[in-house]
Amino acid sequence: MNLHGIERAPDERVNWKTSFPFFLVHALVLFTFVTGITGTAAVIFLVMYWGRMFFITAGYHRYFSHRSYKLGRGMQFVMAFGGGMAAQKGALWWASHHRNHHRYSDTELDLHSPQKGFWWSHVGWILCDKNNAWDADGIRDFNKYPELRFLTKHDWIPPWTAGVACYLIGGWSGLVFGFLGSTVLLWHSTFFINSLAHVMGRRRYATTDTSRNSVFLAFLTLGEGWHNNHHYFQASCRQGFYWWEVDVSYYVIRVLGFFRLAHDIKEPPARVKAAARVRDGQFDQGMFKAYWGKAGAALHNVRLHKSHELDPALLESDPELATRRDQLEELIAQNRAALAEHVANALAHAEELGRLTRRQERQTGTID
Ligand SMILES: [Zn+2]
Ligand SMILES: [Zn+2]
Repeated sequence: MNLHGIERAPDERVNWKTSFPFFLVHALVLFTFVTGITGTAAVIFLVMYWGRMFFITAGYHRYFSHRSYKLGRGMQFVMAFGGGMAAQKGALWWASHHRNHHRYSDTELDLHSPQKGFWWSHVGWILCDKNNAWDADGIRDFNKYPELRFLTKHDWIPPWTAGVACYLIGGWSGLVFGFLGSTVLLWHSTFFINSLAHVMGRRRYATTDTSRNSVFLAFLTLGEGWHNNHHYFQASCRQGFYWWEVDVSYYVIRVLGFFRLAHDIKEPPARVKAAARVRDGQFDQGMFKAYWGKAGAALHNVRLHKSHELDPALLESDPELATRRDQLEELIAQNRAALAEHVANALAHAEELGRLTRRQERQTGTID
């Protein structure tokens, strides 16, 4: 498949057989027209949407992927089971892939970079075979718990438990609208963070990726929409860095902290918050790379299409024209290659500089 000029490897194409349940759930929601929406089903919808969103952002994301606060083993299990109810596979699968997303943001190795197209970053990367497996080494810190391995291996148990409970409480309307309807909305809101949050919104911090801050996405996802803040300083549990950046997940984790159910809740230090601002002229490597990629693709397209635009009559009347044209084309190609090498070098140096600065900041205790 060639989507917006992007080539897909065979294991990057949608596997329609294994993805069937995903599309089926979407279709089943249409039965809401048959079952109608009862008051109980509406309540189930709201509880299942916001409740499971909390488990995904506070549990799967901020706890399992980033360890931005600490939990006891019982609460850890609650987070893994709650997140599992969202039907986004097990905590170990989710978190190990997410750690890789941060490690390789917007590079070839980023598993859901929007540089590979919107569809790919939204659901393509989940519906293909490429990412079925997960990297146990990358999540050794949690892989050692047998109950987490069990829940990841049998990842159907939490969503089916939730589904049956919704049916028992709210009947068919409770199941179809309350459970399946909220599941579909929950899926796409979560996926928006991988797709929309890298194209919609504003960039406060210069990072090596294309993450952005969006109040709309923050509302839909209980605070995950402050995605640029998050990419900039992943260690922080709090993703809305200022009081006006509403971050409900963080507030709830604070309440858990108050009852001593969560501890070591990490905050962004003031100096980190003030540094690396795009507004202050910090070199924005992430956006530069994205634009450079686009410019490269555009140049490539121009070269491909040029031969069709030549007027043979004109070339015949002046044979020197063709020679000169070929010379120029050759020159442009050479310069482009040299420029590409320069840019690659400059980016590598900028990345090294960033790494060294961060290490120094860690050593001097500016960030943890
Ligand atoms: Zn993250
Ligand atoms: Zn991201």
